[in-house]
Amino acid sequence: MDHSRLRDASKVVHAGQAPDPSTGAVMPSISVSTTYVQESPGVHKGYEYARPHNPTRYALERMIAGLENTGISLGDDVTGGGFAFVSGLASIATMLDFVPHGGRVVAMDDLYGGTGRLIRMVRTPSQGIDAHFVDLTSDGAIKDALTPDTKLVWVETPTNPLLKVVDLAKIAVIAKAQAPDAILCCDSTFATPMLQRPLELGFDVVMHSSTKYLNGHSDAVGGLLATNRQDLAERIRYHQNAVGASMSPFDAYLTLRGIKTLHVRMQRHCQSAVEIATFLENHPKIERTVYPGLSSHPQHEIAAKQMDGFSGIITIYMNGGLDESRRFLERVKIFALAESLGGVESLIEHPAIMTHASVPPEMRTQLGISDSLIRLSVGVEDTQDLIDDLSQALG
Ligand SMILES: *Cc1c(COP(=O)(O)O)cnc(C)c1O
Repeated sequence: MDHSRLRDASKVVHAGQAPDPSTGAVMPSISVSTTYVQESPGVHKGYEYARPHNPTRYALERMIAGLENTGISLGDDVTGGGFAFVSGLASIATMLDFVPHGGRVVAMDDLYGGTGRLIRMVRTPSQGIDAHFVDLTSDGAIKDALTPDTKLVWVETPTNPLLKVVDLAKIAVIAKAQAPDAILCCDSTFATPMLQRPLELGFDVVMHSSTKYLNGHSDAVGGLLATNRQDLAERIRYHQNAVGASMSPFDAYLTLRGIKTLHVRMQRHCQSAVEIATFLENHPKIERTVYPGLSSHPQHEIAAKQMDGFSGIITIYMNGGLDESRRFLERVKIFALAESLGGVESLIEHPAIMTHASVPPEMRTQLGISDSLIRLSVGVEDTQDLIDDLSQALG
């Protein structure tokens, strides 16, 4: 059946999936075989060895290709342009492999800490990447940064942890005119395909840390890529095998299982986060609340145009400093003090000490990742219970 016309709530259940022809099983089995028998040398059913070929991983890859509407047929790529890796970072590393030695990379200034670390500490020394970290919410900065020799543009939106929102369509138009050789990649982890589809806005590749919302249950690490360009699909497929960071069948099974409820989970995350952000914005102990769904957010209008909801992450600046932040973080009871985000359980963390400790201190200061900054990931628990918890911890 062609699933491309289904709406999102149906796609998360069905895209790229079909009952197993031999048993009728509605979920793919966890296929553990590392090798496949051949009738004659080179004569086989399309499966030779499990690093490149695994049916459980393919089922997940067809799903992400379907959710991101790649438009690539299964005849042109075995999963239609979807790819699953052992982690979000492994998928980012694969895209960085496409930058020739010494090539120019333009990246958002506010990024997941590990992405900046990979570019700065690993690929700049090993590959001579000429990296430029730029505030891509500024029109002037985009125009200056996207030079004709740019090989890769790496955007995150909304960003981690400051929730800046980048106008993807605008960047795609400017890049087409000024930097035609650049591959445009968007880390869409915070939005998921339910809220934002970068390929439809002119980007070439969309990336997700499936560890977060897509799997959604805090029990599997993974990274996904999807592209609508046949040439890139071929290169990514080649690299996925040649470099070897393909996702394990068990994690692919868990992630696919998690995605089946993505649509209902995201609805809940979004609804609760709006209420909680409003509560925090009006609380006297909070200096500033950053949430793309609030009209006070500097890019609220772009978010409203580009996204179908504002996701479940909220960033706040407490009044006071580290002592006040520490006390609040120690007192919450339902919100768990932990790294990561996007799971069914609510999490809270301190970026400067926890997730973004690898960002150079002067860059943290410049961006505003201070000791009073706290990031919340709103889970799917009862909204009032979550507000009560924050209220008692702030009290
Ligand atoms: C977590 C995260 C990553 C890294 O993904 P891993 O699965 O932890 O390797 C990349 N980008 C964003 C926005 C993230 O939140």
